[in-house]
Amino acid sequence: APGPVRYVVGNWKMQLEHQQGMKLATGIADGLRAMGPIPVQTVVCPSFTQLYGVHEILEHADLPEDRLALGAQDCYPAPSGPFTGDISAQMLAGLGVKYVILGHSERRQNHHETDAIVRQKVKAATAAGLVPIVCIGEHLTERNEGRAASVLASQIEGSLTRDFRGMIAYEPVWAIGSGVMPSRRELCHKLKLISALLPMHLTADGQTIPLLYGGSVTAALAPSILSIPDLAGVLVGSASLQASSFLGIVKVA
Ligand code: PEP
Repeated sequence: APGPVRYVVGNWKMQLEHQQGMKLATGIADGLRAMGPIPVQTVVCPSFTQLYGVHEILEHADLPEDRLALGAQDCYPAPSGPFTGDISAQMLAGLGVKYVILGHSERRQNHHETDAIVRQKVKAATAAGLVPIVCIGEHLTERNEGRAASVLASQIEGSLTRDFRGMIAYEPVWAIGSGVMPSRRELCHKLKLISALLPMHLTADGQTIPLLYGGSVTAALAPSILSIPDLAGVLVGSASLQASSFLGIVKVA
């Protein structure tokens, strides 16, 4: 019998010139088509400026949306209004976007996004019909001081609505873009902790929330990560910028 659906989400960040982004999207679509049917939901999250172009490519890719879907990297809490330079969840949904990464540590850090702001964005995304992928994760000092559990608990409590329907990406900040990953033992422990925290905060069944891991995932490391039973998939940064490495991760998912 086929196992549960796995998720492989690519976060392109503020990378790639327009044409490089289009080429990457085409390469991923071609590669997925060649793989044939597999129970993996692949999601690509380009910059805002590349969403329309990538959507056009996915439209013509002859792949069902439950194989390859479009995601964004952020959205604004309000549906519309005088917010110069911002992009609403409604606008994204109108463009064919299905998923949105929220509360990524780079946004928490560079744009001073608090848990409360992330929660407003979760509400907006959900109202627009998008699936929020909420990032949580402790900093290195928090981990080393033994505070990871309380940080994760307060991020869960502060960032998620009680009726949250979406995905959680556990991204230890010290593992992002560093080439350093938690040991399998530590990752299992953190995922168990998150699974135990979710039902304490959510009215809906926390067991149905897919948990992703993100931080320095490569095709070489993916098999050991994805063999963790509590894990539904991975959120991938740098290794998602080349079709070959990204598809290498999809293959083992
Ligand atoms: C990320 O920033 O979401 C991420 C996982 O990045 P990387 O894979 O490059 O560590």
